[in-house]
Amino acid sequence: MQNNQLIQIAKDFGSPVYIYDADKIEQQYNRLTAAFKNVKQLKINYAVKALSNISVLKLMKQLGAGLDTVSIQEVQLGLAAGFKAENIIFTPNGVSLHEIESVAKLGCQINIDNLSILEQFGTKHPNTPVCIRINPHVMAGGNTNISVGHIDSKFGISIHQIPHILRIVDNTNMNINGIHMHTGSDILDIDVFLYASEILFDTAKNFKNLQFIDFGSGFKVPYKAGDIETNIEELGEKLSARFNQFCKDYGKPLTLAFEPGKFLVSEAGQFLVNVNVVKQTTSTVFAQVDSGFNHLIRPMLYGSQHEIRNISNPKGRERFYSVVGYICETDTFANNRRISEINEGDILAFSNAGAYCYSMASNYNSRYRPAEVLVYKGEAHLIRKRETFEDLLHNQVEIKFKK
Ligand SMILES: *Cc1c(COP(=O)(O)O)cnc(C)c1O
Repeated sequence: MQNNQLIQIAKDFGSPVYIYDADKIEQQYNRLTAAFKNVKQLKINYAVKALSNISVLKLMKQLGAGLDTVSIQEVQLGLAAGFKAENIIFTPNGVSLHEIESVAKLGCQINIDNLSILEQFGTKHPNTPVCIRINPHVMAGGNTNISVGHIDSKFGISIHQIPHILRIVDNTNMNINGIHMHTGSDILDIDVFLYASEILFDTAKNFKNLQFIDFGSGFKVPYKAGDIETNIEELGEKLSARFNQFCKDYGKPLTLAFEPGKFLVSEAGQFLVNVNVVKQTTSTVFAQVDSGFNHLIRPMLYGSQHEIRNISNPKGRERFYSVVGYICETDTFANNRRISEINEGDILAFSNAGAYCYSMASNYNSRYRPAEVLVYKGEAHLIRKRETFEDLLHNQVEIKFKK
């Protein structure tokens, strides 16, 4: 999106504001499906938690995606967006048996990631198809080394416990229709991902009624020029060939599933803020903006380096700034960053603001969550209003104190 279009949106809808580019989301979706064009049955389940606005979900539906969900509320959002239950997979961690049963009753695909629930669910509902989340204990390292993920991760059932899984499945006669992994780490190296996939294939051989194998996500997107990005095309070529071979050996065509969040929406998002104050100290120039970790917590939570541009003065002389928020807490977005000269009142744009940004926003400091805008076919649509004072008080109950 051009700077003048972004500035116009800030004028029309106010700031801070999140802006998403539908074209970019579509491009990423098409890139992924094109990379796996050699797989007959491909299913892309968008990870709702990355960005859960209902208009974004509807866009995903239009593109042909299903949904990956981690709470019954995300399932309900998906249903409200018009998804069929059968196109929603439920991949929670540490939720109650009751919640899993409720989602199963809605008709969604259940994915179980611990032995306790597997045994309880299988005993009570042996006919409901269940996918099993495996922890292959493989983490993507920064280079070609294959490092073993720590054995005490809370996600998935350890591959070392496969004998126990098989005993539960045998004892309950439950129907396992899918095998899943989501290592949660960035795929920096395709060989590491393929190595983990081999573990998944090995596991899959133990089950006779599979319909799909779900390879989760972890596709890495660039945050700044020169960043490593998962080579989707290369992964597509290699994994497709291997997957098709597996199906041949297995004796039945299976569906290859992915559940990307970040890959589909990260780069489509920009976050615009206003510069309230430029403050010089003895060693630093701070640009203080009308936001903080209440709106965008990734830099403070994960150390994410979002690119920041001064779209009010894009051609200005570059100077070094620390960009910080207005929250009464350390809320540094960027340290010692080269940005074209900033004046009070300028608008700064944060890149890669589509995934895990608005969805992690809060009301800390009793601030309103920002508005969200979707640019679809060149036109800006408000898809979430900025909060108001009523929203802050909405669920609060005032006690009437007697004198
Ligand atoms: C969060 C999550 C994803 C999405 O991960 P990204 O890195 O955003 O692509 C996929 N699957 C599961 C089970 C998740 O919890």
